[in-house]
Amino acid sequence: MIQIQNVKKSFKKTEVLKDISIEIEKGEIYGIIGQSGAGKSTLLRCINGLESYDDGSILVDGQKVDIRDKKKLRLLQKRMGMIFQGFNLLERLDVYQNVALPMKFWGINPNTEESKEKILSLLKLVGLEEKVHARPKELSGGQKQRVAIARALVLDPEFLLCDEATSALDPEITREILALLQKINKEMGITIVVVTHQMEVVKQICQRVAFLSDGRVLAVGRPEQLFIWPKEREIRDFLREES
Ligand code: ATP
Ligand code: MG
Repeated sequence: MIQIQNVKKSFKKTEVLKDISIEIEKGEIYGIIGQSGAGKSTLLRCINGLESYDDGSILVDGQKVDIRDKKKLRLLQKRMGMIFQGFNLLERLDVYQNVALPMKFWGINPNTEESKEKILSLLKLVGLEEKVHARPKELSGGQKQRVAIARALVLDPEFLLCDEATSALDPEITREILALLQKINKEMGITIVVVTHQMEVVKQICQRVAFLSDGRVLAVGRPEQLFIWPKEREIRDFLREES
């Protein structure tokens, strides 16, 4: 469980997270949606300690995320895989080597039988067993995101954090990637946090969603609750712009 309690964060004089409190339960797919600049990515980066916060606390299964405690932070980051809009694959490495990167970072030999089995089973899960030795430039956007997903899962994380993971993909491929995330959530029991500005993404896979606006949580609820008759003006404006 991830508990975000009264978190505040400023860059210089600009406060970008203003007293954020949300709770993400184990096993759920939780959405964080809002306009560009609302603070979604910053919040996600605070959750896995890529960014510090100034006030409040973030607890992962009761343990505080504190970027000053490097040792604990590294262990925490191992429990959280992350994927991004731009995939972040290394062009000079093939698919296998890209998926193996976190192993190398942790001093695990990616070429033992056990590692090979792990990597190949993940490539099978994401439907890319045929592309083991392809380079990123030989892959489509959807395939690249599948590689990134396999890489994010290679150390058996409990959480998968997704920052606009489908924003660079067309609607059909987006649906396929979302279906894959759902499968990962169901079959592997991984808790997924989805940051997006796309309502369709939230509607399709999130059990609950927090709507962020200008660094504050305006509403939390099931997607259909939040989006059918929203009482908040900002959410109505957002829906109008989306459609
Ligand atoms: P988008 O939908 O465009 O990705 P977002 O909701 O993810 O937006 P953030 O990236 O979290 O928004 O940014 C929130 C605010 O914080 C923005 O005003 C942004 O300019 C500012 N910001 C983010 N990162 C930094 C940084 N490293 N230094 C200074 N300001 C930053
Ligand atoms: Mg962002």
